[in-house]
Amino acid sequence: MNLFRHWSAVVFFVGFIVYTAIRAVYARRTKGLMRVHRQVDRLEIALLLLVIPGSLLLPLLYLFTPLLNFANYRYQPAWAPWCGTVLIIAAIWLFWRSHDDLGQNWSASLEVRQDHQLICRGVYRWIRHPMYASIFLFGLAQGLLLPNWLAGWSAFVPFLVMFVVRTPREEQMMCQFFGDEYRDYMRQTGRLFPRPWRR
Ligand code: SAH
Repeated sequence: MNLFRHWSAVVFFVGFIVYTAIRAVYARRTKGLMRVHRQVDRLEIALLLLVIPGSLLLPLLYLFTPLLNFANYRYQPAWAPWCGTVLIIAAIWLFWRSHDDLGQNWSASLEVRQDHQLICRGVYRWIRHPMYASIFLFGLAQGLLLPNWLAGWSAFVPFLVMFVVRTPREEQMMCQFFGDEYRDYMRQTGRLFPRPWRR
């Protein structure tokens, strides 16, 4: 069990619980809402199967069992856990804000709901994918807080693949439903990094 090996693992675990709780609260609020389009094909399922073990299973195995100890490393620069702590706080804030701004328009898979509104305010005013930006920040924090090659980097790397494959599909779906409104929004915002000079 590595939970009490270093304070950084406790920070990660608390962050993990808060992150999961935010998702659970907003998932409950959108449960049962009608959808007009759902894009869950084999590729989408494969992407979820790629991401879920690394972001849920491996960190928990590392924290609560000795199974992944063969991949532990000792050297962790002194700044790494502090940087990880700042990043996990930023990730949680952005995750909460993006769920709150998207409200009833949020879904775990690619979906368009009945009365779906295009959100361009709050954190969506600056970037098109703040929730994915938050997941990247969380994945980086995980790598910096857990000194284990498997559990540490198992969220960031698969999510990078998911982001590269899923984001163009999501944007295509949004263009299909919102047309020029979404295309204008794309011109004014970056995917992950703000483009204030375009506004
Ligand atoms: N990619 C976004 C949202 C992730 S949730 C982010 O990273 O913040 C995925 C769902 O959100 C998609 O199925 C889509 O229906 C919806 N969505 C994405 N961007 C949106 C926006 N600007 N306004 C409303 N709904 C949006």
